Amino acid sequence: MATTISVPQRKFRVFTHRDLDRIPQLERFSRDQVLQMQAVARVLPFRVNDYVVDELIDWDRAPDDPMYQLTFPQPGMLREADLERMMGLIRAGKPEDEIKVAAREIQLGLNPHPAGQLELNVPKVDGIPLAGLQHKYRETVLFFPSAGQTCHSYCTYCFRWPQFVGLDDMKFAAKEADSLVAYLKEHPEVNSVLFTGGDPMVMKTKVLRRYIEPLLSAELDHIVSIRIGTKAPAYWPQRFTTDADADDLMALFEEVQAAGRHLAIMAHYSHPRELETPTAQAAVQAIRNTGAVVRCQAPLIKHVNDDPQVWTDLWKRQALLGAIPYYMFVERDTGPKQYFEVPLARALEIFSAAYRRVSGLERTVRGPSMSATPGKVLVDGTTVINGERVFALKFLQGRDPSWVNRIFFAKYDEQACWLDELEPAFGEKEWWFDSAIRDMKEHGKVPEWGTHSQVKKRMHEAGHFEWES
Ligand SMILES: *Cc1c(COP(=O)(O)O)cnc(C)c1O
Ligand code: SF4
Repeated sequence: MATTISVPQRKFRVFTHRDLDRIPQLERFSRDQVLQMQAVARVLPFRVNDYVVDELIDWDRAPDDPMYQLTFPQPGMLREADLERMMGLIRAGKPEDEIKVAAREIQLGLNPHPAGQLELNVPKVDGIPLAGLQHKYRETVLFFPSAGQTCHSYCTYCFRWPQFVGLDDMKFAAKEADSLVAYLKEHPEVNSVLFTGGDPMVMKTKVLRRYIEPLLSAELDHIVSIRIGTKAPAYWPQRFTTDADADDLMALFEEVQAAGRHLAIMAHYSHPRELETPTAQAAVQAIRNTGAVVRCQAPLIKHVNDDPQVWTDLWKRQALLGAIPYYMFVERDTGPKQYFEVPLARALEIFSAAYRRVSGLERTVRGPSMSATPGKVLVDGTTVINGERVFALKFLQGRDPSWVNRIFFAKYDEQACWLDELEPAFGEKEWWFDSAIRDMKEHGKVPEWGTHSQVKKRMHEAGHFEWES
């Protein structure tokens, strides 16, 4: 029997831009500092709960505290002129409408949809696009349940902000679990379904159950794993311990295992402090007790975790709790990027320094990785070839499956922060995958995985699967 850690009860309370005045810990800041926060929080989403405020942020270290940087609006997140403009409007007591119009203009000046998500990844059934689904890599479908498009707190750097600030026409939201099931039935090549958001764990258990249970049917036995991408273990671990429906949630996790599927909780942990509280530790234990596995991922963010020791401590703490380090991401080219971005060369240094300080058990982590248009690209190292300094890059995932695990080289560039800021090495004019990507864009679709029977035949021929239905 596993031991149970006893944890304090807490009732979820949330603060938004309207409540900044009411957070007692902000009394340490000047009026002008609070006004700056209000200005930023009108443009970029702000939402934080009492657990983060009371137990995760070290207020004596604010504004430098990493958990404070991760959740509270920072003046450097807007261009100076935009910040001044918003502060001016609020200070002058301008009408709500005027403030909203200004905020919207500033928002649209930021890049909300990176990596060709809208163009290329929306799958179709009978030519009709399925909202709420994204199928970029052959084996895995991303699913965005409409009830999971918010979070227990918002991360200041998050690229998903168009979903939160009401730019509805750009939002991926699922109407029905039905369309997910229909799509999966047609796609036997898919073996993993990844629930994402927002944060799917904002859903009550009975809502989540409605999405998950249909995936357990015998008809969908090509689905090996169900993953839930979530920051709840960090921002609201009570979801798994003391919330009213936490027990029911744990029962649902057990059902997934009992139905012969693997359940992975893809937990977003940015900083070791998120694993220090008794509630956070109890949450990991409660999840593991159901047979589910906790795998951990986070982006590398300036002001939050751009320090090798932070990652060393993070991975060690995860291993100690039986959670598995999985991905270190490079932050995307979006939103307030100038404030948070870390150059690839620096990301690689941080990763390597941390990686060297842990044992093989923590080296399950892959990183630094970019979710870019052609695929998930790992910055694997730097080297010198024929006198030219290069980055060695590798596809962990590819829009074309044949690209997976392929190594390629970019000219070394100390400043570059993203794949599109890199140039191919050895004087090549373009990347070897560029023409394929152009072709996909022109035809407005993902590479054709094929119809049900075509895919089965192809995979059977390739010796991948042996099943009948
Ligand atoms: C990362 C990612 C996945 C999952 O990839 P794994 O290698 O299976 O972890 C699936 N779809 C998209 C769009 C992704 O970015
Ligand atoms: S929890 Fe995830 S989706 Fe929500 S704000 Fe943070 S990074 Fe974005």
